[in-house]
Amino acid sequence: MLGLRSRDKESITLCYLVEEKSGWLMVDSGYNDGASFGHLRHQLDLLGISFSQIRWLLLTHYHPDHSGLAHRIRAASGAQVIMHQDDWDVLRATVSSSEIWNIHGMMPWLRALGIPEPELAGFYQIASGGRDLFPRGLEPDLLLQGDRNPVGDSGRLEAILTPGHTPGHVCVYDSQNRLFFSGDHILVEITPHISPSHLTSEDQLEQYLESLEKVRPLDVEMVLPAHERPFPCFRQRIDEILEHHDQRLSEVVAAISDRVVTPRDIASQVEWNTGPWGGMDATNRVLAVRETVAHLQLLEHRGVVVRAEGDGTAGYRLSGNPARS
Ligand SMILES: [Zn+2]
Repeated sequence: MLGLRSRDKESITLCYLVEEKSGWLMVDSGYNDGASFGHLRHQLDLLGISFSQIRWLLLTHYHPDHSGLAHRIRAASGAQVIMHQDDWDVLRATVSSSEIWNIHGMMPWLRALGIPEPELAGFYQIASGGRDLFPRGLEPDLLLQGDRNPVGDSGRLEAILTPGHTPGHVCVYDSQNRLFFSGDHILVEITPHISPSHLTSEDQLEQYLESLEKVRPLDVEMVLPAHERPFPCFRQRIDEILEHHDQRLSEVVAAISDRVVTPRDIASQVEWNTGPWGGMDATNRVLAVRETVAHLQLLEHRGVVVRAEGDGTAGYRLSGNPARS
């Protein structure tokens, strides 16, 4: 296990080296900066592993704290870079576009969620930077298709598609050693962020919950996630996350009550484990509103809430309830 930290980001990305027949398969990389790459080089030295022994680099998903160093590792090692087609489509669009995260297209969508201008401006400032943290000039060597793909050359590793956190997120299962490399799909304390945008499908949370149910039957002794720390209680943690979302869905319904409210109104009323709404900066508030949208989309799909559009803002009310503002 390697821990990579970027120059100016707090979070550490945990990367893993799995010994295969003809070399090492590395799971994930860190942000694209010299500090992260320096940590990687130093830790490989300590392990007595050279870059040339890394034969594969598998990216669990396209986010820059996982994909950022891919081109540097590929150049140093000749490793094959592997990721899922559905995430490559997003990454390619993200890095080839002149604007990161399609931020200009996202702003009207965010405004319609009821987010006030100062919060939008704060989010814009943070989200429009960060382009350099993505990999540059990357062309993956192997694009995974469909649900399950063998990876490496020992026959014991399988990449399993687990959409939700991103459309093409994959986890790696080692059936022989009962290890589960979970990327950002399952973390021990944080509930992985589900963040819809104007470009994503409206069933992200549904996909995420299905992806949890899909891997739950696997026989797992140890979960090796991309953040925080490894942990043993695989099914228990899945059940906790499922329970969290059930609870959040109830909180959202309670926050709507008999009124028409915006996603931002609701987000300001539910309880966040990152701390109280009042203490959140603009970026965290926008992310909290987007996570609330994921819950509203699921409730809408289940027929519990309906959209009540008015004066450019997306309001929601409980279905069957007469609207009162
Ligand atoms: Zn991550």
